[in-house]
Amino acid sequence: MHPEHEVEYEHDSAACESPFVSRPARLPFRPDPWLAGGAASHMSLTIEFIGTGDAFGSGGRFNTCFLVSSGSIRLLIDCGATSPVALQQRNLAPPALTHLVISHLHGDHFGGVPFLLLDAAYNRPRETRLRIAGPPGVERRVVDTLELLFPGTSGRVLPRVEPEFVELPARHRTQLDDVSITPFEVVHPSGAPAYGLRLEIAGRTIAYSGDTEWTPSLIDVADGADLFICECFGWETDVPSHLSHRVLCEHAAELRCRRMMLTHLGPEMLAHISDSRWPCLSDGLVVTI
Ligand SMILES: [Zn+2]
Repeated sequence: MHPEHEVEYEHDSAACESPFVSRPARLPFRPDPWLAGGAASHMSLTIEFIGTGDAFGSGGRFNTCFLVSSGSIRLLIDCGATSPVALQQRNLAPPALTHLVISHLHGDHFGGVPFLLLDAAYNRPRETRLRIAGPPGVERRVVDTLELLFPGTSGRVLPRVEPEFVELPARHRTQLDDVSITPFEVVHPSGAPAYGLRLEIAGRTIAYSGDTEWTPSLIDVADGADLFICECFGWETDVPSHLSHRVLCEHAAELRCRRMMLTHLGPEMLAHISDSRWPCLSDGLVVTI
C-alpha cells in the first residue's frame, strides 16, 4: 500500500471536521499488495477508493467503487460502468474479490458487474464463488444487462461463473461469511429499492449513503459508524434524488458517526472541495480504520 496515499484514522470524535487535503485523482500503476503476498496486517481494515465520481465521470473520476479489505475479505461496494477499467489501472484482479455489495441499480453503481462476470468466464477464471448482494431484483437486472450488452452470452457466462446472488431485505441484518450487511431504504428512484448500507467487518462499521436526497434513514445508516461515506453531488443547488453540501450542513448534528467523508462529487461540489466542511474522497485514496 502506498503510504503517500494512505490515511489512518484514530477514533477521536473531534476529528470529524478536521482539515483534510484531497489526493490527486490519478495514481501511478503499482503492484497489487494483496496478490503479491503483502496483505494487510491481522485485523486491519482498509478501504481503497477505486472510484469516487458521479455518473458523468466529472473531474475525470471513475464511477463509484470502494474496495474493503480485511483478512481474507476483499469486498467491493458498488461497481459502476467504469469500475472494471479503474480496477485494471490499479492492478486489482477481480478473481480475488470475495463479495460485491450493490447499493442501488443505477449504471454508475452496478454497470460494471456484467463486465466482471464476462472477465471471470473468458479471461481470468475465479477460484472461489463470487457472492453478489444487493436490492431485490439485483440478479434479474445484472443478467438482463449482461444480455443487453453481450447478446446470447448470459447462458454461457452464468454457468461458468456461477455467481451467488443475495437479495438484501431492508433494515434486516444479513450475514455473509464474516461480513454483516444492513441496508436502509433511501430516496433515489432506480427501478428497485435504493439502499444506504451499514457493513460490519472485523469489529468496524462502515456506513455508506448510496445515492439519495436527504432522508431520516441516513441518521440510522450513519449512527455510530467508524466511517460514514456520504454522497455529496452538489454544493448549494438542490438536485433531485441527491444530496448537496448545503443540505448536509443543515443535518450535520443528526449524523452521529465518528468520521464522515464525501464521495460522488458533481461539478459544483468539485469546484468547492477546498471549502468543504468534511474531507472529500478522491480516486486512489486508501483509508485505514
Ligand atoms: Zn444513482
